[in-house]
This record gives sequence, structure tokens and C-alpha cells, in this order.
Amino acid sequence: MTRPIQLFAPSFDVDRCLAEIRDCLERGWTGIGFKTVEFEKRFCAYVGEPHGHFVNSNTNGIHVLLEMLKLTRGWHEGDEVVSTAMTFVSTNHSILHAGLKPVFADVAPDLCTGIDAVRSAIGPRTRAVVFVSIGGNSGELPAIAELCRARGLVLILDAAHACGSRLGGEHLSRFADYTVYSFQAVKNLPTGDAGLVTTRSSAEDDLIRRLAWCGINKDTFSRSQDGYKWLYSVDHVGYKYNGNALMGAIALVELERLDAGNARRRAIAERYRAALDGVAGLRYIAHVNESESSRHLVQFECPERDKLNLYLDGVGIGTGVHYRSNSRYPMYADQSTPRADHMDGRILSLPLHLRLSEEDIDRVIASVRACVAPAPRRVAAAA
Ligand SMILES: *Cc1c(COP(=O)(O)O)cnc(C)c1O
Repeated sequence: MTRPIQLFAPSFDVDRCLAEIRDCLERGWTGIGFKTVEFEKRFCAYVGEPHGHFVNSNTNGIHVLLEMLKLTRGWHEGDEVVSTAMTFVSTNHSILHAGLKPVFADVAPDLCTGIDAVRSAIGPRTRAVVFVSIGGNSGELPAIAELCRARGLVLILDAAHACGSRLGGEHLSRFADYTVYSFQAVKNLPTGDAGLVTTRSSAEDDLIRRLAWCGINKDTFSRSQDGYKWLYSVDHVGYKYNGNALMGAIALVELERLDAGNARRRAIAERYRAALDGVAGLRYIAHVNESESSRHLVQFECPERDKLNLYLDGVGIGTGVHYRSNSRYPMYADQSTPRADHMDGRILSLPLHLRLSEEDIDRVIASVRACVAPAPRRVAAAA
């Protein structure tokens, strides 16, 4: 059989990553600090945010951010956060971990939560809205930001897919109060596992750093900079969520390749769109900010999704569903999201990564067409 084509596959600048990692090993500094601090500075400059803390995942980043907000804003257990069923389940788990209640707004045809659904999910106990950028799409983020401002709600952007996504030249973080990135192994800026939380106040950034470091008021790196290395206090039951220098080393290299990688992703997505949108009822899920999207995903709505999925699997082409509606999981079965539930039976993500060759893309396109629109059988011409 021909070589399988994976759905996702990270592509690292191996030599440069190894040189940065070697720097950590030779210095004998692989934990928090050093490369993590350097990455925080560079990433904040890149997205244009004043503060960012490098953590060990987006999941833990959302959790620690919510814990910080509970402390500083006097939120109570059971206060509500408007979220979505169409996300990786950890977005919603993090809300529950913080003792808050996720309330799902239903999705628009582009799979992000729509403004009207967000508006109707807001109740007297709503404190925040989490907007998940699906595939790098800005969706109705500006309007939702407007609504949150008017209602005095905190807007958090889950930018796990949206690293490098812009709208009108601005990074999507600009529209939110807080943004949480993921640098998990198959995201657009891949490491092994890491994430970053942006804030706009140094007091909040400082509290996030403490909460992510067991509640200790000075990390080992800051302590190594003064004469009282052992003198610290513990003000909170914190978590062990800090990122480490080895992940920071990889992130530093990959940040420099992010914009070029995203441009290549957009070009691949455009190839799929041009070849497949409208073929046998396939609908390409377009992004509002198509020319500036990070294009983490290319998704189609397919009338016969399961048939197409099995066909592609049979010819060695990896696919995915982003996502199954979280309302289908027993954990979140109390939520009602009819449009997300309907869409999850019809969406399919096609291979999109930087290891795809032009021939690979052609093969995916030809295979999709062979399944959904097989060429009519030739009728033998009468002699
Ligand atoms: C990957 C992902 C997460 C979780 O990120 P981690 O860094 O793996 O914790 C959260 N939300 C979405 C939408 C994701 O795709």
C-alpha cells in the first residue's frame, strides 16, 4: 500500500532545537526560568501583550487563570462560565476544576459559538465567557467582546488553535481580556507539552506565577538572583503548573517558524477548498479571517461523513472530528446544544501539517472525490 498520510504531524527544526536544548543541558538548567523567561518575553512581543506566563499546558493555564480570577474578583463556587460543546474536553474540565460551572452556548455554522447563543447563555451568575477559536477562526469574537464589555463579563480566549491568528492585522488576543495558548505536540507551535497565559496587569501575572508554582511567592529562578535563596512564603494552595526550560528551548525555535508555517497551512487549506468545496454537498468550513487564520484545521461538513471517514481510513489517510459535541459525554450530558450535536455527525478534518507534499495533498483530494463523487462508469460504446 502507498505511504499513509497522517492527520497531524509536527515538523521541527531539529538541529536548532537540539542546539537550544544543549544550551540548557550544558548550563545545567532544565527547569523553570532561563529559556522559559526568554520565551515569555519573545512571545509577548510577538502577540503584543504585556505579560505572559509559560505553563505546562493550555488545560492547566485555563485552570490557573480561573483560580486567579476567583481570588481577585470574588467569584464563588458554582458561578458560571459560558463555554462551548465544540472543543477539546479539557476546556470544560478546567472550568469544573476551578469549581465553576460551564454553560454551553451553541455553535454557529462555522463551529465557533455565535453571539446570539452566547447572549442567551448569560445568566445572573455568569462571570466569564470562554471563546474557543476553532481552527484559528475569529468567528464572532469582536461582537462577543463588545457584549462582554457591556455586561461586565471577563472574556477568555482559548487560543489552542489560534497561535499566530490575526484579524485586521491584530492577534486575536487583542479582542479578549485573557488568552491561553497551547504548545502541545501537534499544535501550530509544537513543543512536547506547554502553554502560555497572557494578562494585562503585572499584579495578575504575578499571582498566576505564584499559583502555578505551588503558591510560593518566589520561584527558584528569582531566588537564584538574590541573597535570600531559601526565604519564601506560601500564601495559597497553589499548583505545579510551570513550564520548563527544555520546552521553552523548543518553543523559542518554533516561534520563529510560526508565521511561515501558518502561511503554508493556509495555502494547503486553499487547495482543499478550491478542489472540494461544493463537490457532492461537501461544505468547506470557512474562517472569517481566512487570509490571516492560523489554519490549525481544515474541516468540511459532509453529508455522508462516516462513509467518507471509513473510505479515507481504508486508503491510509488520517482524519479527525474536531470535535464530538461535549454534550454527548456523560460528564456534560446536562447541557443542550442541538446544533453542535447535529454538526458533530457531519464534520471531518483532513490532513493539514507541514510535512505534506503537493502529491500528498493531490492524493487526499483524489481520494475524497473518489468516495463522494465517483466517476460514472463508462458505458461501452455500441459497435
Ligand atoms: C489542545 C487543546 C486544548 C488543550 O491544550 P493542552 O496544551 O494540550 O492542555 C484546549 N483547547 C483546545 C481547543 C485544544 O485544541
